[in-house]
Amino acid sequence: MKKIISVILTLLPVLCWSQFVDYETNKLSSEKQFKPVLKSLSALQNKFDQKFIHIALAVNDTNTYVSGSVKYKLLAKSNLDTVYFEFTTNVTIDSTQINEQNSVYYYSSDSLLVFPNVTIEQGNEFWIQIWYHGNPNPTGFMRGINNTTNTVYNQIVTWTLSESFHLKDWLPCKQDLTDRLDSAWLFITVDSSLKVGSNGMLSQITQLGNGKVRYEWKEHHPIVYYLLSFAASKYVEHNVYAHPSNYSDSILIQNYLFNNPQFLIDNTWNISQMAPIFELYCAQFGLYPWADEKFGHALCPVGGGMEHQTMTSLGYLDTWLVAHELTHQWYGDHITCASWQDIWINEGFASYGEYLYAQELVSQASADVNMANCHKRAKLEPNKSVYVPFADSWDENRIFSSNLSYKKGSAVIHMLRYLSNSDSLFFVALKQMQTQYADSVITGEDVKHIFENVNGKSFEDFFNQYYYGEGFPFYILIWQQDSTITGLDNLKLQLVQWGSSSNNQLFTTPLQIKVSFTENPDSVIVIQPSQSVQIFQIDVNNNKVSGLTFDPQNWVLDSLLYIYHISQDVEQIELDDFFITLGPNPASDNLNFKYSGPDNFKGIIKLYDLSGREMLSYNIMSNNEVIPLIKLKAGMYIAEINGNHLQLSRKLIIIK
Ligand SMILES: [Zn+2]
Repeated sequence: MKKIISVILTLLPVLCWSQFVDYETNKLSSEKQFKPVLKSLSALQNKFDQKFIHIALAVNDTNTYVSGSVKYKLLAKSNLDTVYFEFTTNVTIDSTQINEQNSVYYYSSDSLLVFPNVTIEQGNEFWIQIWYHGNPNPTGFMRGINNTTNTVYNQIVTWTLSESFHLKDWLPCKQDLTDRLDSAWLFITVDSSLKVGSNGMLSQITQLGNGKVRYEWKEHHPIVYYLLSFAASKYVEHNVYAHPSNYSDSILIQNYLFNNPQFLIDNTWNISQMAPIFELYCAQFGLYPWADEKFGHALCPVGGGMEHQTMTSLGYLDTWLVAHELTHQWYGDHITCASWQDIWINEGFASYGEYLYAQELVSQASADVNMANCHKRAKLEPNKSVYVPFADSWDENRIFSSNLSYKKGSAVIHMLRYLSNSDSLFFVALKQMQTQYADSVITGEDVKHIFENVNGKSFEDFFNQYYYGEGFPFYILIWQQDSTITGLDNLKLQLVQWGSSSNNQLFTTPLQIKVSFTENPDSVIVIQPSQSVQIFQIDVNNNKVSGLTFDPQNWVLDSLLYIYHISQDVEQIELDDFFITLGPNPASDNLNFKYSGPDNFKGIIKLYDLSGREMLSYNIMSNNEVIPLIKLKAGMYIAEINGNHLQLSRKLIIIK
C-alpha cells in the first residue's frame, strides 16, 4: 500500500491525508476499548480454517450501499457450536444458513455469531452463508468500502481497500494473516453501464436483464483476507501484454481506466512502461506468481495505491507507483508478513522495487537519488526500528510509517544487497523467499535465515542493529599519514561512532572507504568496526594519501559528521574535542559553553574545587549557554560536563 500526499491529492479534499489520520486515530481509540473482547473472540475464530469464499453483492457507483450474500467453506479445527466473524454493525443481516439450514445468529458490536443447529465436529468441512444489505460506510471517511470522485477526470468509483483491519467494514470475515483462503469468487452485480475489476480471472459477464450485469471474477490461487477487492465504475478497458523471458506465453495486463480521452493522452508513456517493469520483476524475483491468471490496474480515487492480488488499485498511473504496487504482488501478496510487526516484508521490499525499477529502467543516478531520499527519511526517526514493537502492532500509523516501514525498510534491503557475497546471491535470496514461502507468511527472522543460508555467513548482528535495533550510527573518521611519525607506508584511521538511539550504540557493518593518492589511482578499502572508538592501520605501500571518501557508493544508512585530517600522532580522540568549547580560560565573571554536535544538547556542568567539593551545578538546556561565575572565588577548579553521550573534564582557572 502506498499513501502519497501529492498534487493530485490536494485536488481531492475529501481524501486528504490529515482526515485519514484523524479517522484512524478515532478508530484506534475505539479498537483499544474493544481489544480485550476481541481477544477472547479471536480464540473462537481459531476454531476454523478458511477454505473458500464466494462474495455475491450488488453495488452501484453513487454510494456504498451493498446487498447480497457471502458464502464460506470452512473447516472445523475443533468441535464448533459458534462461528464468529468480525463485521460492521452498519448493515442489516437478512438471514444466515449453515449447510443450507437456517440458523440463529447474534449481531452486535462489530461481531456476528452464527450458531449451527447441531455441533459441527472437528475435521468436518461446512458451508456458511450470510445475506445482508445496507450502507456499511455512511460517513464517507476512507475505510473498507468507499465511493469517491476523481475530480481531474471527473469519474466516480465505488472501491474497496481493506488493509489492515477493514475487510470487516464491508464483509463478515476472519482477519487473520495466517489463515489464507484457498480460492475466492467475487460476483459483483452492477448497472450495465459499469465495469467491475477484481481478483483473479473474469470468467463471465452475465446479463441479468433490467439493465443489470454480473461480473464473475474467480481467483483460483490462495489469497489473504485484506487483498479481496473490487472496484466498480464507468471504466474503459485498455489492455497490454507482457512477455517475460522465463515464460512461454504472454501475460495479460488488464487496465480499467478512467473513461476520459484525456486520461489516455496523459498516460501514454506510463502505460507503455507497464510491460517492461513487469518483465524486469519476473527476471529479478521469479516468474509472476499468477501468470496463469492476469495482472491489472483499476483506477480508484485514492491517494496512492493498493496491491490487490492480480489487480492493483491505483489513484494515478505514475511509473514509480506502478513499480511499488507491482513489487507487492511478489512481496505482500504471494508471500505476506506473518504479523503486522513484520510489515517490512510488504512495504520495505515494495519500496526497494522502486529502487530496482530506477536502476534498471531509468538511470543509476535516479536510483541513487531514490536511496539518498530513503536515508534522509530514515534519519528523521532516530529512536525507532523498522520492526514494529508489539505494543504498536494495532496502530496503523506506526505499521504504515513511511519513514520506517517503507524508507528505512528499503535502506535495510539495500544493505542486505551490499552485505551479500555477490549481487547474484542477493537475487538468489530474493527468489528463495518466493519459492520457500509461496502462498504463505514470512517473518523478518525467516529472511535473515535465507540470507544466512545463501551467503554462508551470519546476519545476526546486522538484523539486531538495523532491523530490530533503533536508529542509525553517527560516524567521525579521522586520518593521519605523517612521514615523521608513522612513515608513508601506513595510513592510520580512527573511527569514532555512537548510535542515534541510546538503546543501539554500536554498529558493526563493514564500511567502504575510498583512498585517493597524489600519484596513483584510487583504491577502496573495507574496515570492520567492532567498538565505539577504533584505530585501523592500513598498508598503502609508500603512496602519499591525498584524501578519503567515506562509503563512496552510499550503501550504508548512517550519518558521517566529519572526516578529519590531522598531522600530529593521536591514540584516542575524544568526541568533546569536536563538539564542545568551554572558555575563556582563565575566566572571570562568565563561562561560555558552545556545543556543535548533531543534536540539541541537554546536560549539566559542575565545578569542583581541588579538594573535590562541588562548588557549582548548572543545567545546560541549549547549544549555547553563558554560565555566571559571580559567586565563585578566584582559584583552580575542575569543570565536568555530562550530556549527549559526552563526558568532558577540564581544569579551569577563575580570576577576579
Ligand atoms: Zn506498499
